[in-house]
Order: sequence, then structure tokens, then C-alpha cells
Amino acid sequence: MTRHLLFAASLAGLALLPAPSAPPGAAVPAGPSDSLKVILLGTAVGPRVNLQQYGASILVEADGERFLFDCGRGATLRLVQAGVPIGSIRRLFLTHLHSDHVLQIPDLMLTGWAGARRTEPLEVWGPAGTRSMMEHLQQAFSFDIHMRRDVDERLPAAGIQVLSHDIAEGVVFDEGGVRITAFLVDHGPVRPAFGYRIDYRGRSVALSGDTRFSENLVRAAQGVDVLIHEVIDPVAIRNNVDHPNPSAIEAIIAHHTTPEQAGEVFSRVRPRLAVYSHAPSTESVIRQTRTTYAGPLQGPEDLLTIVIGDSIVVRHAPR
Ligand SMILES: [Zn+2]
Repeated sequence: MTRHLLFAASLAGLALLPAPSAPPGAAVPAGPSDSLKVILLGTAVGPRVNLQQYGASILVEADGERFLFDCGRGATLRLVQAGVPIGSIRRLFLTHLHSDHVLQIPDLMLTGWAGARRTEPLEVWGPAGTRSMMEHLQQAFSFDIHMRRDVDERLPAAGIQVLSHDIAEGVVFDEGGVRITAFLVDHGPVRPAFGYRIDYRGRSVALSGDTRFSENLVRAAQGVDVLIHEVIDPVAIRNNVDHPNPSAIEAIIAHHTTPEQAGEVFSRVRPRLAVYSHAPSTESVIRQTRTTYAGPLQGPEDLLTIVIGDSIVVRHAPR
């Protein structure tokens, strides 16, 4: 649909280089070690099953280290499609605990160990409730864990350990030159909800998580190279969503960001590239965003790869 159009719009005055279609993930050259690589694994909005856009999940790589942000439906499948071994994911950061952001965690936890040879603990950072959720997930799968660890396959115990952190706003990870900062966003009654900023050797990307317009995000994202933001289309939701409680529709809308508001955020942060994820893939959203933002903008696409270096390289997955 709009991707070429969007791309053409984003080229004006920018070091944004289109590349020929190539397999995602593995096909992107490693590049200099000071580059940050981002892969949008799943870009869908909300809990509905969507076969074009899987559940919310974004992978960030810095110098070979991998950091997964949210783990919505299909995240592990997209990792494999991107050429990333599931067992290589040892660090997971959650923006909030809505199901569409966490549904695939059991698969990451269990298959990453039993099917993909993770031998080190899975470490998880997230809002209050994260530790409890991870403990309950381990409990829910205790039979399988017991069988594979203690009885049958005798898989390494460390690989199915989980280290969880209920975090507060601030720096939550600082190792090997990678600094990850959690900042509070505003997802209505779902609080706390976080966005994250990742800084590595002068390169940076910020992820909004789910939020309505957030002044705190505008502050926290200042100076980033790439800003990945959520958006909804209120008109489309009012017209199309069949919700058992119609009055809930307006509440849902009020807990997210409209295209005009996202455009305002982009205009105030002025990233080198603005990207939508957790977003409808429609021309209408782009058109509405253009009323408040004229800069480089990339629509939501699963398996889109962004390499942030001296220039920003965007690669689309083949269709
Ligand atoms: Zn949410």
C-alpha cells in the first residue's frame, strides 16, 4: 500500500537510504558496531487476531546483544522469520501487562529453553505485577518444566530460571555501553505503563508502549534518532469495532494517541525517523498524521528492519 509513498515522503532532506528488498533480519549487514538495529516483530493494535500484523513486539540489537520489548502474539514466530534464534533472547522488557503485549511469553520462556537451547536465565523487566505474572507462568507450566529439567531430557536448570524486576522510572539497564531508560507514559487506568529509550554509542531509539499523548514521553525522547510510537484511528474504531460494551469504545480511544496527536509528538521530538507500531496500517492514519507532522514517517510493518548509524537504513520484509 503506502510504503513506497511513505518512503518517498521520508526521503526529503534526509540520510535515509532505501535498500532493495531482502530477507529480513539476517539479510541486513552487521554494519559498524556503533549502529543500533531495530526489528518490528509485531505491529498490531489490540487483542484481535491479525494475520498481517502480529502482536506488539520489538527487537533491538546493539553490538550483538539482543533486547526484546514486549512479547505479543506471534513474537517467537517473527523472531524465527527474522533469523534470530529464540534461545538467544535473554532480556525482555515489558511496557505494561495488557495481554496483547505479553501473550507469547510462555513460548519464549519454554521453547527458548526446551527447543532453542537457552542455557542462561530469562531476565524480565516490567511494571509492578511483572514478577507475580512470571512466577505464575512458571507455576502454570511446572509440569513441563519438571519433566524436562528433572526427569526426562535433563535440560539445564539455569535456562528455565526467570529473573524478574518490577521497575520504576529511570535507568533499568546499563551494561556494555547499552543504557535502557524506562519512562512513564499515560495509558489511562493501566498504570504504571512505561515507554523505553535505548542509547548506545550516540545512537538512540525510543518506544512509546501504549499511551495517550504524553508530555513525559516528549521529554524523555528528546534527541532520539528513531521514535517508535503507537497510534489508533478513532474514526475506524467507532465505525468498525464490535465491542460488547459500546461505551467502552470511547474509553479505549481515550487511552491511546490519535494520529494528529502523534504528529504533534513527532513534531516536538523531531526524530530522524518517526515510526508507527501498535498502529493500524492504513492510508487514513498517515493522512491524519500529516496534518500536524511533515517529517520522515514510516508506517507499521511487521519485520521491518531499521539500522541506525550515520545514516538510517530501512529494509522491508519481502511480501
Ligand atoms: Zn495497552
